[in-house]
Amino acid sequence: MNFDLKQFEGLKTPFYWYDSQLLDQTLQTVKSLADRHGYHVHYAVKANGNLEILRRVNAAGLGTDCVSGNEILQSIAAGIAPEKIAFAGVGKSDEEIRIGLENNIFCFNCESIPEIEVIDEIAGQMGRRAHIALRINPNVHASTHHYITTGLEENKFGINTWALDDVLKVLERTKNVELIGLHFHIGSQILDMQDFRNLCTRVNEIQEWFYARKIIVDHINVGGGLGVNYEQPDKQPIPTFEEYFKVFAESLKLRPKQQLHFELGRAIVAQCGSLITKVLYVKNGTNKKFAIVDAGFTELIRPALYQAVHKIENISSTEPEEKYDVVGPICESSDCFAKSIDLAGCHRGDLLAIRTAGAYGEAMASTYNLRTLVKGYFSK
Ligand SMILES: *Cc1c(COP(=O)(O)O)cnc(C)c1O
Repeated sequence: MNFDLKQFEGLKTPFYWYDSQLLDQTLQTVKSLADRHGYHVHYAVKANGNLEILRRVNAAGLGTDCVSGNEILQSIAAGIAPEKIAFAGVGKSDEEIRIGLENNIFCFNCESIPEIEVIDEIAGQMGRRAHIALRINPNVHASTHHYITTGLEENKFGINTWALDDVLKVLERTKNVELIGLHFHIGSQILDMQDFRNLCTRVNEIQEWFYARKIIVDHINVGGGLGVNYEQPDKQPIPTFEEYFKVFAESLKLRPKQQLHFELGRAIVAQCGSLITKVLYVKNGTNKKFAIVDAGFTELIRPALYQAVHKIENISSTEPEEKYDVVGPICESSDCFAKSIDLAGCHRGDLLAIRTAGAYGEAMASTYNLRTLVKGYFSK
C-alpha cells in the first residue's frame, strides 16, 4: 500500500487510517458475490463500529450483525434498515432486548433457554413478537487461536445439540417468540476452507434432526470467521470471498426457499485499516534496537491479547533495513507490537504503519493510563 503522507498533515498520532477505496471495493465485491448466490451478508459491527464504516456498509446494501444494544442503535444511525439487523450475544440485557424489539429487528440469535424465556416475557409485556434463531454449538473445531474459537462444546457460546429437545419444549409454551432460523459461528481468522466444509456437514445433520421433527426454518445463518493475510497484506487486499461462498454453495443443503445468511467482520474491514504511529525514541538494547512508538495496546491490543502478528512498515524512511523490537509506552511488558522485525532505519519522528488493523483495532481501543481515545480518519 502506498501511503500519501500529505494526507496525514495536521493529524495527531497515533491514529487509524482507513483506505476508503479499498473498503468500498471490498464491500462491493462481497455484495455482488453474495447476490450471485442469493445470500445475505450482515457486517459484524463488533469488528469496527466506526459510524463512517457503517454508512459505507449501508451504501453497499449489506445489513449488520450486532452484539449490543448500542451496536443496533449505531447501525440504525448509519441508515441500516432494522429488517437487516441480526442481534447475537450470550448476555443480552433486558434493556438491549427492548431496543431490538422496539426497532423490529430481523432476528435475535438466542444462545440459551433462559434467554428465550426472557425475550418471550419482555416481548409479551411490549405486545410484540420476537423473531429468533437458535445459536447452536456445532462442535466443529476451527484451526485458529484458542481465544477466538467458539464452536466447541465446552465453549460458553451457543446451545448444545443435546439440549435441543428441551428447547423445542420451551418453544411450545413461549408464544411471543417465533423460531425463524438456525445460527452457527465457529470462530474467527479461519483460513482453512475445510473448517467451513466441516461446519456445512454438521449443519446438514442438524437440519435433518429438525426435519425429522417437522421443522423447517426460514433461514440458516453460518456466522462469519473468514480470515485475512496478516503477514502479507498487499498480496490479497480483498479476501477470497468467492472461494468462501463456493464452499457453502457446494456443501450446504438448503431446503426449498430457505435463505442463507453470513456475518462477516474481519474479512470486510481488516485490510483497509492501518494504525499510524510515530517513533518517539530509538533505544539501543544489549543485542537489539527498540523503536519506541507513541501507540500502545490501548490503540491496538491484538498483539498483546492474542499474540497476533501485524506487518509493520516505516513509511518515512528509505534507509537500509535493520532489526527492531517495536514497543509502546504503556507500563506492561506485553505492550509490544513486534519482536526482531526488519524495518527501514528508524529515527525519532518517523511514521510507522501497523497494517491490517481495520478489524478489532479501533473497536477494542481503551483509555488505560488515561490516554486519549484513538480516532480514525478516512482517505479521500
Ligand atoms: C464476532 C462474530 C462474527 C464476526 O466474526 P469475524 O471473524 O470478524 O468474521 C460473526 N458472528 C458472531 C456471532 C460473532 O460473534
